[in-house]
Amino acid sequence: MKARLLAILLLCLPVLAQAATGAAQAGPTDAAASSTSTSTTSTSTTSTSTSTSTIVRLAAGVWRIAGDNAAINAGNQGAIVNTGVIATGEGVIVIDPGPSQRRAAAIGALIGSVTAEPVRWIIDTHPHPENVLGNSGFPEAEVIASAATAEQMQGRCSLCLQRLVDQLGAPAMRETVIRLPTRIVTDGQTLLLGQRRLRFLVFAQAHSRGDLAVILPDAGVLFAGGLVNDRRVPDLREAALTGWIEALNTLEQLAMPSVVPGHGSATDGAAIGRFGRYLTDLKAACDRDIAQHGDAASSGARLTLPAYRGWAEYDAQHRFNVARAYREREDAQLMEN
Ligand SMILES: [Zn+2]
Repeated sequence: MKARLLAILLLCLPVLAQAATGAAQAGPTDAAASSTSTSTTSTSTTSTSTSTSTIVRLAAGVWRIAGDNAAINAGNQGAIVNTGVIATGEGVIVIDPGPSQRRAAAIGALIGSVTAEPVRWIIDTHPHPENVLGNSGFPEAEVIASAATAEQMQGRCSLCLQRLVDQLGAPAMRETVIRLPTRIVTDGQTLLLGQRRLRFLVFAQAHSRGDLAVILPDAGVLFAGGLVNDRRVPDLREAALTGWIEALNTLEQLAMPSVVPGHGSATDGAAIGRFGRYLTDLKAACDRDIAQHGDAASSGARLTLPAYRGWAEYDAQHRFNVARAYREREDAQLMEN
């Protein structure tokens, strides 16, 4: 048992090997491969790479393609979420295929550099456009999501697509079409896809309404989707702070050796606790402030969390999160009293 655990831990180290320069030579055991023909070398054995054109092996037949750990901008063209890739022996599963046809094509090329299996399934962990509009690039694939995600995509994907066209320009989003989920999964459900069994957890109120966590027990990997960020301040716009903290407690109890966050580069289980502390610290700070001041209007200036200042998006996002969390905690306390 110990030897197996050690083997899993070793497999989870995303060693960046010299990038493969030809798909034909690359096999499923390659640690990393690049979609470009330019050879790049890294001797790093940590998971700090933020290259969005690299596929990193996490376990046998399991890879991660990193998104840029930043906000959507012209430089990253919206490729800001991590994408999971699982070879099943009978086709590939892509988890969160990115924001556009263009990104999906790049993801498809990276997948082609490590396996000859076609993409047969997509899993959308939640309905944000940077996660789901890349469904467009895999027209043959079945799209799997929670019911809440499917419902929200139906209601707003066209608006989200238009917003990204406005933000990034038409060329960046060229040929991107909306592909809605065709198979709904529920909390606790397992699915056998090809030769791999996946288990799903659905959280009704966390990062979004209907977040999906995808567990691959045979490889010891958890794809956390929008539920976990690594060293990046989250966006609480559609979030429920308390529900999110509870969801993270559930994920932490799974004790999976490898975790693929929605944003950021860590792939170890500690990423869950590290991220959860931001939310619990934010909640505690709001509760303290409400007890002392009860003044939401000026709370943003008071409730800085300096420990997280080095995280991506702190300046852009934290103050907004204070306002959002403050409202939620005020409402919760009114209900309690
Ligand atoms: Zn999201």
